[in-house]
Amino acid sequence: MLDSFRDLVLGSTCVGCARPGRLLCTTCADALDPHPAPAWPTPRPPGLTDPWAATAYDGTVRAMILGHKERRLLGLAGPLGELLATAADAALADLLPVADDRVPLLLVPVPSRPSTIRQRGHEPTTSLVRVAAARLTALGHPARWAPLLRTRPGLADQSGLGAGARAVNLAGAFRVHAPAVRRLAQGGHAFHALVCDDVLTTGATAAEAQRALRSVGLPPLAAVAVAATRRRTPVE
Ligand SMILES: [Zn+2]
Repeated sequence: MLDSFRDLVLGSTCVGCARPGRLLCTTCADALDPHPAPAWPTPRPPGLTDPWAATAYDGTVRAMILGHKERRLLGLAGPLGELLATAADAALADLLPVADDRVPLLLVPVPSRPSTIRQRGHEPTTSLVRVAAARLTALGHPARWAPLLRTRPGLADQSGLGAGARAVNLAGAFRVHAPAVRRLAQGGHAFHALVCDDVLTTGATAAEAQRALRSVGLPPLAAVAVAATRRRTPVE
């Protein structure tokens, strides 16, 4: 409400260049030029399977992700979701044998902590995953999404924690929502699961999410993200 009021009174500006008008002007949108690629962090967290990202976490993409997540610029979910789909599409082309190409995809968002969702008023990764599922389906990879993961009570905010503290905090970070998995199992269809997040940093969060899915018999094909940080080792 506050955001739409502010937009009404002040108008919007592009998150990339601050020009008045759309949240992402056509010049900045055209300049995005994603190069989806494997995004292995150094060091590799144990259990991480095939991380892919559409682009590097800097410049306009960084401004888009932060604007969407922290400032509730919800109109950015479209272009960010498209970038996520680009990463997934490239991962599939690399990882899947052609014969497997028609097995539906299941996109599983990395969840935020409930307190973070309350504070932000939305769950940004889920919004991107919805867009990406529609985009992938349009590209010929039938895709659905399911919020299978929940955060463990007591999970702390990762920012501000060093590498060691992050690893301790993340151990058992996610549990799988059993009713959602049961509903999937009732469908009786095979699918390829992809863990989805906005930013890939150390890879520890994605690895933990993949571990949780593996523990209920849903081994993920890959982890896909909109962007990956260039510096993967967290600053101590
Ligand atoms: Zn712009």
